[in-house]
Amino acid sequence: MTLLLAGLLLLAAAAPGHAALYAAAGKADITPDPKKETVWLAGYGASGRKATGVHDPLYARAVVVSDGKVTAAIASVDAIGLYREDVLDLRRALGWEGKSDRLLFMTATHDHSAPDTVGLWGRFPGVSGVDKKRHKRLKKSIVVLIKELEGRLQEAELSAARTEVDPEGLCRDSRDPVVMDPELNVLGLRTKGGAPLAAVVRWSCHPEVLQPDNTLITADFPGALCAKVEAERGGTCLFLPGLLGGLMTPDADASGPLEADYKEMERVGATLAGHALKALAAPGLRTRNAAVSFSSATALVPIENSRYLFFLPSLDFGHRLLDAEGRPLARWKRWYLPLRHLLLFPLPERLRPWVETEVTLLRVGPVKLLGIPGEVFPELVIGGYKGERRYGRPLVRPTNPNPPDLAKAPGPPYLRERLKAEHGIVVGLANDMLGYLVPEYDFKAAPTRTMTPKPPGTHYEETNSVGPRGSKIVLDAAAALLE
Ligand SMILES: [Zn+2]
Repeated sequence: MTLLLAGLLLLAAAAPGHAALYAAAGKADITPDPKKETVWLAGYGASGRKATGVHDPLYARAVVVSDGKVTAAIASVDAIGLYREDVLDLRRALGWEGKSDRLLFMTATHDHSAPDTVGLWGRFPGVSGVDKKRHKRLKKSIVVLIKELEGRLQEAELSAARTEVDPEGLCRDSRDPVVMDPELNVLGLRTKGGAPLAAVVRWSCHPEVLQPDNTLITADFPGALCAKVEAERGGTCLFLPGLLGGLMTPDADASGPLEADYKEMERVGATLAGHALKALAAPGLRTRNAAVSFSSATALVPIENSRYLFFLPSLDFGHRLLDAEGRPLARWKRWYLPLRHLLLFPLPERLRPWVETEVTLLRVGPVKLLGIPGEVFPELVIGGYKGERRYGRPLVRPTNPNPPDLAKAPGPPYLRERLKAEHGIVVGLANDMLGYLVPEYDFKAAPTRTMTPKPPGTHYEETNSVGPRGSKIVLDAAAALLE
């Protein structure tokens, strides 16, 4: 009888539109101690900076939501990024891999003052800065945290709000066309009794207020943002990166002594926290019933970046190398292809290596989170080629020696519009890190082995991208997911 009743309750809970929402949130300290172990910081230049101390702690944070049938964990870690193989590892460790009722939606804040997690910032250029033991420890912390949260889910109320923030003093676009995403999205979760569980904040800017002269570990502005939200509201605050490409960098003055730079970091974090808290105080949506569902799709992306082809063995760290049909590449080709590329340039299309990536759509009631596996240029997601999102700056700087040909830019509808949701949240670096997703029409790189000479103007992103075809493949896969 009790079983039958429980079964009926479960059925009632699963009826569409009337699913009760359960949630839990928490964080795990993942700060390494540079006095006890060597830590190479990720984020700038061709090699790492050796960390000399800790300014503020790094965390892995997670929110687990469930409607009693489908459970999803949204996790964000203070790190430069996590690759696809890491995400698959985490899903396997959770026992969630390939399950239709369990999703790990993993992202990183893109912190530029945290240990190297992607193998690009070691002692010398081309040498990984990842400490394998620490990397394992990091993944274990995330798994333990999510398992623990899954065990203490409780009925919750979801709120959501969106606000548009003028980026002045917070973020600026360093590459033409000037298109900045002003959207600040927030989600709030409280227990049935009103106690705060979590706040999720999404904003588009690189966490790089601290510049290469800093050698202290810090979570940069997302750390300051979350500290303020957690102190004033209670519960756990998750920071999700939005559209970072193109390139969105803090509108902050970090030219002074380090103490002044840290004050700037606090200012940017606290200002954004203020906007988030204000939006959460008057949310546009509040509900206790929210069905949880998700869909995802994999996409194959060709490695066209000439520099990446040299470093195939290191690229293998986070992605399995495949052929155009998605079959694993023979091991010897990892060494043969770079050599072939070096001696007989260019590599013919039939020999090109490919990698698999993922786009993911998570729905929690009327809230939609769309995960894009890289640093996408904002204009690819929100448009703005006519100057709608330039906030008083020129769309194209008159001094640009190599301006983008905007007549060739892709037209609407753009992805954000296609999401068809007031609370549609486009998340970057989600479930993979593919580097910059550069619009194909403005992908300008010298077709040489080393991608030099660099074309005039700002074209740094091309060198940190899989190649010109990548952005369209990923965005087409995301658009197909929304159909
Ligand atoms: Zn970046």
